[in-house]
Amino acid sequence: MKKTLTILSLMVLFGCSDINKKQSKKTTAKKTIYAVDNHSFAKPNEAVAKHLNLNIKVDFNKKIISGKATYKIEKKATVTKIHFDIKALVIHKVTINNYKDETDFNIVEGDEIHGDDLTITLPKNASAVTIFYETTSKTEALQFLKPEQTAGKEDPFLFTQGQAILTRTWIPIQDSPQIRLTYDATVEVPYNLMAIMSAKNGKQKSQNGMYYFTMKQAISPYLIALAVGDLEYKPLSSRTGVYAEKVTIDAAAFEFEDVEKMIVRAEMLYGKYHWEQYDIVVLPPSFPFGGMENPRLTFATPTIIAGDKSLTTLVAHELAHSWSGNLVTNATWNDFWLNEGFTVYFERRIMEAVYGKEYADMLAVIGRQDLDEGLEGLKHTPNDTKLKLNLDGRNPDDGMTDIAYEKGFLFLKTLEEKVGRPNMDLFLKAYFKEFAFSTITTEKFLNYLNANLLTPNKITFNVEEWVYSPGIPANQIKITSTKLDVVMQVIEKWEKGNIMVEEICDQDWTIQQKIHFIRNIPATISARQLESLDAHCEFTNTTNSYIAMVWFEQVIKHNYHNKHIDKKIEDFLTTVGRRWYVSTIYNALKNNGKLNYARRIYKKARKNYHSVTTNTIDNMLGL
Ligand SMILES: [Zn+2]
Repeated sequence: MKKTLTILSLMVLFGCSDINKKQSKKTTAKKTIYAVDNHSFAKPNEAVAKHLNLNIKVDFNKKIISGKATYKIEKKATVTKIHFDIKALVIHKVTINNYKDETDFNIVEGDEIHGDDLTITLPKNASAVTIFYETTSKTEALQFLKPEQTAGKEDPFLFTQGQAILTRTWIPIQDSPQIRLTYDATVEVPYNLMAIMSAKNGKQKSQNGMYYFTMKQAISPYLIALAVGDLEYKPLSSRTGVYAEKVTIDAAAFEFEDVEKMIVRAEMLYGKYHWEQYDIVVLPPSFPFGGMENPRLTFATPTIIAGDKSLTTLVAHELAHSWSGNLVTNATWNDFWLNEGFTVYFERRIMEAVYGKEYADMLAVIGRQDLDEGLEGLKHTPNDTKLKLNLDGRNPDDGMTDIAYEKGFLFLKTLEEKVGRPNMDLFLKAYFKEFAFSTITTEKFLNYLNANLLTPNKITFNVEEWVYSPGIPANQIKITSTKLDVVMQVIEKWEKGNIMVEEICDQDWTIQQKIHFIRNIPATISARQLESLDAHCEFTNTTNSYIAMVWFEQVIKHNYHNKHIDKKIEDFLTTVGRRWYVSTIYNALKNNGKLNYARRIYKKARKNYHSVTTNTIDNMLGL
């Protein structure tokens, strides 16, 4: 996923453990041993779901999904119960082996974070269970959007967001990342809309609103995803393409033009793309993340459509998850850095391969600054700055900080410098092959790292310190970018009054340079100086969402405002629901004496946000 909080200390993520490793061809299949996952009620070592057949109807009037989830299960002979995770669902009945033989079930109340434990009684011969259910208005994974919240403004839209533990709010499921399963689905939607899933998708609307899906590779529950809207498809290559509303499809196709190139370079780096098809769906602006790496079908925010491909590093990120995250998956949310740290490293390697080293260096320096801000935000909770987390009893979302992403990246980048890039690449390629379609804990990874990279090359490296200690070890690699050094020199001149603002605006800078410039505007610059800068550079009127976000943050910090800017900020906050963006702006308002103003805007904007975003902002603004 990309990306959540940069400067905030609020969030967390995750927690369970061990191992669902596909055996190498040479060894005989060994029974999977699942670890305890404190974020799931499932007891997979006793009875586990292996395949889901989902049969649901999407009702836009009632804003619910209803239907049945049938699981093929495996259980120990003596086991008489199976446990599923549910949250804010109504369970109508449960049947065994077919749709007729009802069985007893019991809902054991859990808590606000985890939801409830659906315990189903199993007869001896049970090989399948079917749960008849419907969602409710409290279902957090779903966001039903009104036509006016879409690009086309004519039809409603629905999307799901499963990570970290929200799939249980729209499907009763054993919601632990280590419980991988295959699925197929029948989804009924209004006939004028199209349904697509993280599965094999059609490319056209059906005549009757019925859609059929198969996902034949076993995936973690958080990666099951559905989007429904007035969508069209445009292929980009024989195995890539984009789904979007009609008014967006051409711009999206242009923006994502390089995706085939990215896959080719990614495969050269770390081996075959295992998911056959790679498509991107452009969602309405309320989507809470930059992107979500749902297999075969990345969900993306429209805020990355900048018109100049300047923000497509996000596509490289989500694509990289096809290896790190989807192919080799964190076993527990405490191991989230294995998903995200590797993905940021891989993302920048793809960007370097496609657009050159200078570009990748800029991204790394900007990421390093994110990390510093992240560390600052977590200074009172140093345990949250360890790569391996302990999120027991907390919402796994709390772990979605820059630690997993950028400290994870910095660890791998420092390791790369130590072992040399050829060794690093051989190691990573082997790692993705060895653990393909399985889940992995931090401990298992460290054993593999020692056995396959460090020991054979006689390399000593402070891995334990990086993974289990707070903060950043002293041997961290220093990341530099000549292009961003130029930016810092301009800022220095500006501060000293040695450069005119016109000259600053005339620099032939990339988007990343502009972002770096804005983020690093010193506190000594006055509101009047910002006004003069804005008069020439027109940052307030930018159409680039990333620039808008960092600019509005500075505007608020420097107390530079007028009617036009206030309106722009308000429009941004009431249109966009991307958590990273809006939380940055609300946080700036809060920290600069404008809490009441922030609350006033939020009151209007909240209905446009997904629950992932409202959970964060509710907390931040003390609501
Ligand atoms: Zn990610």
